[in-house]
Amino acid sequence: MKRFTRTPEDFTCSQCGTFVVGDGYTNHCPSCLWSKHVDINPGDRAATCGGAMEPIRLTLKGHDHIITHRCTTCGHERNIHARDTDSTKALLILSTRVQ
Ligand SMILES: [Zn+2]
Ligand SMILES: [Zn+2]
Repeated sequence: MKRFTRTPEDFTCSQCGTFVVGDGYTNHCPSCLWSKHVDINPGDRAATCGGAMEPIRLTLKGHDHIITHRCTTCGHERNIHARDTDSTKALLILSTRVQ
C-alpha cells in the first residue's frame, strides 16, 4: 500500500499564514520554516500525529544547511535539508538561536 511517488500539494502555513505552492518535495514553510508532522520517512505522509513542527536548530554540513524540527505535539525530531526557496532571514534567525 506504500506509494513512493511524489505528491505535489499546496498548503497554507498554520504558523504564519503563507500560502505555499508545493512541488512534491515541499515539506516546510519557506517563510517561517515550520513544518507539520505528517511523515515517518520523508515524503511518505504515514505519520498520524499531524502536530506542528518547530524549527529548533540549523546545522551546516558541508555546503548543506540542515534544519532540525521538533514536533510540538509528540516531541519527535527530524532533520531536513534547507531549500533554495527558504527565507534567508528565517534561516539566519534560526542559526543564531540559543538552545
Ligand atoms: Zn510559515
Ligand atoms: Zn508529532
